[in-house]
Amino acid sequence: MSEKDHIADALLEWFDQHGRKDLPWQTNRTPYRVWVSEIMLQQTQVATVIPFYERFMAQFPSVENLAEAAEDTVLHLWTGLGYYARARNLHRCAKQVCASHNGVFPSDLAGLEALPGIGRSTAGAILSLAMDTRAPILDGNVKRVLARYHAVEGWPGQRTVSDTLWSFAEHHTPQERLADYTQAIMDLGATCCTRSRPVCERCPLERGCAASAQGRQSDFPGRKPRKQIPLRQRWLAVVTRAPGEVLLQKRPDSGIWGGLWAPPEFEEASAAKAWITNTLSLPAERCRIEEPFHHTFTHFKLEAHSVRAQCAENHPETIGVESHADNLQWFALHPPPSVGLPAPIVRLLAKLGKENPPRSN
Ligand code: SF4
Repeated sequence: MSEKDHIADALLEWFDQHGRKDLPWQTNRTPYRVWVSEIMLQQTQVATVIPFYERFMAQFPSVENLAEAAEDTVLHLWTGLGYYARARNLHRCAKQVCASHNGVFPSDLAGLEALPGIGRSTAGAILSLAMDTRAPILDGNVKRVLARYHAVEGWPGQRTVSDTLWSFAEHHTPQERLADYTQAIMDLGATCCTRSRPVCERCPLERGCAASAQGRQSDFPGRKPRKQIPLRQRWLAVVTRAPGEVLLQKRPDSGIWGGLWAPPEFEEASAAKAWITNTLSLPAERCRIEEPFHHTFTHFKLEAHSVRAQCAENHPETIGVESHADNLQWFALHPPPSVGLPAPIVRLLAKLGKENPPRSN
């Protein structure tokens, strides 16, 4: 690569005129604030992240506040952002920063990468954006810009492709204005070199861009090889109690929806019914199965059927159910519970709430 291959000067000039400078995490840029924004921005668009970020910062203005919070409160503030492993790792990481680093984020790549949920790119973003230290990043936007600029063939999930992109990221990262450069290349990917219909005529890199010269922008980055996503069917025991409560179970930390609250889940309709009849002493005829709802995860599609049962307010078995099996709890439907809930369960509870309106006094 020759010197003229460096894109930093053109990007910085473009950033001074067009870059984003008023995002909430760009004010008072501390490692903590940058770190939270970077974790939220993984797989989620800026416009979606902003209100979540502002609520999160209002509740947890410092890493100590986050470390001391209950996991349910953290997951509740994450409800709607998806990919809940990010929130659990965020919480674990805050605890580790407080316990092992006196609440101060390490200022080197290895120290940051040793923390839960922080990979090389997030570590690079914290170092460059919050500490103005030279460290390349390679998030989704940067991958797209570099893959197009250098016409890097192949899917970035493959090691060899990723290694090539990292070496370009390293090569282009300048010696000065690290925070601005990092923000500039992320902004270019988000606003100009967009996934579909990149605006090459307004791009400061167009003169040297291989994909633009070849008219092959949509070929880069290469796509993940397609695989058939399997369908997984599950049955949820959705039990409500008059006048307006629902029985939820906290799921184990590992696995899908880890640490979130949802109705107990079963692999067979008969198992869900048996659980309801045994745990709550309700006759099987009182259970009805509703139309399924669907949700797509990275590795499978979920088809979830609700097995619905309604208990009377004074039904004796509802009193002891919370100690009957682990992690069961009744929650009021009005207002919806302030705990971590998967998005499809938020929708399910809203539906239950409409069917069980609050009592007027
Ligand atoms: S010229 Fe077009 S394809 Fe190349 S980096 Fe710029 S926006 Fe992306």
